[in-house]
Amino acid sequence: MIKIENLVKTYGDIRAVDNISFEVKEGEIVGFLGPNGAGKSTTMNMLTGYLSSTSGTATIDGINILENPLEAKKRIGFLPEQPPLYLDMTVEEYLNFIYDLKGCKLNRRKHLLEICEVVRITEVYKRLIRNLSKGYKQRVGIAQALVGNPKVIIFDEPTVGLDPKQIVEIRNLIRTLGKNHTVILSTHILPEVSAICERIVVINKGKLIANEKTEEISRVVEGFRRLCVKIVGPKEEILDTLKKKEGISYCECLGAREADSNAYLIESDPGVDIRRPLFFALAEHGWPMIGEETMSTNLEDVFLALLDKNDERKKKRGVVKSNIIAR
Ligand code: ADP
Ligand code: MG
Repeated sequence: MIKIENLVKTYGDIRAVDNISFEVKEGEIVGFLGPNGAGKSTTMNMLTGYLSSTSGTATIDGINILENPLEAKKRIGFLPEQPPLYLDMTVEEYLNFIYDLKGCKLNRRKHLLEICEVVRITEVYKRLIRNLSKGYKQRVGIAQALVGNPKVIIFDEPTVGLDPKQIVEIRNLIRTLGKNHTVILSTHILPEVSAICERIVVINKGKLIANEKTEEISRVVEGFRRLCVKIVGPKEEILDTLKKKEGISYCECLGAREADSNAYLIESDPGVDIRRPLFFALAEHGWPMIGEETMSTNLEDVFLALLDKNDERKKKRGVVKSNIIAR
């Protein structure tokens, strides 16, 4: 349904997008994941015809976006990073305006009301967009993308700036839309793509570094499961015990937290949930564990892991370690 081939975009000396290729099949929900500045928006803007590419091609449903932009765009609904809302219009005026702009042929009233039901903005249909909350504005942005019932919907950072409740609502909405559309969700938030997408394309510094099933990416991430535990007892002996424990791949003391306890960083082997065995091992020695916290995995670590995986190289312990300490 979507095919991107050797896409490149340069801004002066900057190669914002550097030779990216991937495909999205009909009905798939694919995450496009990368840190800020990775080139996500630039790629999405080229894919949707908002921006021309320096080289390479993007086709939607077999139609080249640059050669036949009108036809290609009819098949895409796009929610850009900054939704193009007209604040002085009511929701009704705005959606009608978009309807005309897209030259939509569907039954106007019925189609627009249906969209409003789906994105749940019916109750603000007559209100000025200016006066809506950020969450509602985002929904109106999504409604705009749905006008004309496009096969493909592309979201660029759809939950940025929303509060946690709104984030959940928008994610649910995207999931629902994914049931009968092809969806690309571009974001820098790993849990967001893992929660919604079947496959994840990872981009960093303009380059594609992974294109895998979500489970596969999760497995790599899980390989980075790190715990910070507070343990009461003799530091050296505890360290020694932890280092020998099966399932623990790395351990270090982070220092004293309270008078009689130290904090330890523990990394477990991929796929191993070390928490229970750890509890029993410590209990055996009579060392109380008085705190346990899972450390978040940052994207940088995931990228390193994926890069290493791609290179078939071993995990770069030293680099990863210094990342942890820096945090
Ligand atoms: P993302 O959406 O992943 O945060 P962007 O696609 O917005 O990343 O940006 C990728 C890179 O291109 C960044 O280094 C950014 O500074 C640069 N860039 C984006 N737009 C422009 C522009 N119009 N002119 C110059 N550089 C740009
Ligand atoms: Mg962006």
